[in-house]
Parts: sequence; structure tokens; C-alpha cells
Amino acid sequence: MAEPSQAPTAQDTPETTAPPERYGYCHWHQASARGIRLIDAIEQGSGPGITYYACPPCINLHRLVPLADRP
Ligand SMILES: [Zn+2]
Repeated sequence: MAEPSQAPTAQDTPETTAPPERYGYCHWHQASARGIRLIDAIEQGSGPGITYYACPPCINLHRLVPLADRP
């Protein structure tokens, strides 16, 4: 494992109550986005299973409910 050459930079400080944003692939608009949430996880009998992430705009657009926000 190579060490990251870039030091983390402090950008504008987010609110302390906000959860850390996760950067990754949004399956709904099929591109990388910031602040994605895990929407669904499909377990498979064989293999690692499938996980679906969506960014906040897609969550609003498609009225998705993140797994963590479900009862
Ligand atoms: Zn999206």
C-alpha cells in the first residue's frame, strides 16, 4: 500500500453535526458524487452482493430512502 502523497486539506468547515460525506459512485445518475448514501444492499447466495448508492439530488428526485434512515 502506497502512502497518499497529498495531505488532507481543510476546506470550508462543515457543520459539526453533519455526518461525514462519502464520495463515490451514484448508481442513479451513473457518475461519482459527493455525499452518497447507501440505498439498498442485495445479498447474494454467492459473491459479495450488490450495493446501491445514490447522491442527495437523486435521493430527492427519486424519493429514495437510505437504508440507515429506515425504521
Ligand atoms: Zn445521483
